[in-house]
Amino acid sequence: MGSTHLSGPTAALTALVLCLLFTLNSCGHLPADVSKTSFAMGSVLSARVFADTGEAADAALDALIAAVNALDKRISATDPASELARLNLSGSAALSDETYAFVQKTLSLCRATDGAADPTLGRVTELWGFATDTPKKPGDGEITEALRHTGYDKVQTDDGERTVTLEDGLHLDPGAFGKGVGCDEAYKALAGRGCAGVVSLGGTVLVCGEKPDGTAWSVGIRDPKGNADSYCATLTLKTGAGTPAFFISTSGSYEKTFTENGTVYHHILDPGTGHPVGTDLLSVTAVSGNGCVSDALSTALFVRGYTDETRGWINEYLTGAVFIYADGGVIVTEGLRGVFGLTDGTGYRIADKAS
Ligand code: ADP
Ligand code: MG
Repeated sequence: MGSTHLSGPTAALTALVLCLLFTLNSCGHLPADVSKTSFAMGSVLSARVFADTGEAADAALDALIAAVNALDKRISATDPASELARLNLSGSAALSDETYAFVQKTLSLCRATDGAADPTLGRVTELWGFATDTPKKPGDGEITEALRHTGYDKVQTDDGERTVTLEDGLHLDPGAFGKGVGCDEAYKALAGRGCAGVVSLGGTVLVCGEKPDGTAWSVGIRDPKGNADSYCATLTLKTGAGTPAFFISTSGSYEKTFTENGTVYHHILDPGTGHPVGTDLLSVTAVSGNGCVSDALSTALFVRGYTDETRGWINEYLTGAVFIYADGGVIVTEGLRGVFGLTDGTGYRIADKAS
């Protein structure tokens, strides 16, 4: 068994966002600016909130943290008491409105991405054990067998009863969608209170509302060859009237890895083979007005790469995407070109087609 390295872009992205922001408007009025870091959904949850008063900012922070934790209690695959874990165990269950809507949304994004972001891979991802402290490479026979118990055609849903039935011992894995939905929940908590803020959870960052100084948000994209605190690029995104929020999700092969017999294995699986995606991509960042969509699409684009088919998904579902390749080439799709900047000295270069 080789070494296990678990890390995430969360803290890194947040750190940059938090560093780049300081607000004191020209009238001398000092809006409350409060930050909090906690732990949720197996990741660091960092939030910075701007509000009229410190009490309002504290209340918004508490509300958003509570909302993310409530979601986790419903959809965690690892908490045996969650609705989703109980569904996986029993094979059929009537769900709460929220959990039913979550399952439906993951299935629709699975269909929209031609099965590239597939919530029905649970039996395969469990074999690899990426959610545990002891991931390991399963035998090829085990993977083949587990793959037989996957596929969205094996999930039956009943809108009237809000019942989900998993055929054939299939298990759902919320991993590629959950933290994006966590940011959707955080957004509801902030928007409902009229607060601006930035939230980082796992590989997804949310920026929303009107910053008190009227400037744009700077969101760093982690250098996939660097450590968790290094950035190779920045997205400058303005929210406010007309564009209430952006969700920025990154999926990378550096994120959860282990080494066995000299081979490094990462956690994003090709649903066709049940093995980590073999690709010259190091990371994909997807930007959207919805967190579940950006999270699902960052995973799906990492699986399929930059192709005619995936350009269609980007046009339909995203503001844009950034593909970073092992040879240092970076593709920035049209919707992000005006807001994307490479960090000097990191050795990356803009490429106009996939390497
Ligand atoms: P992160 O969880 O770090 O945000 P992703 O959003 O890319 O990264 O999700 C990866 C997780 O989703 C994996 O840890 C695994 O649980 C699950 N997963 C892996 N491959 C796929 C896939 N092709 N489709 C859906 N879920 C996947
Ligand atoms: Mg994802």
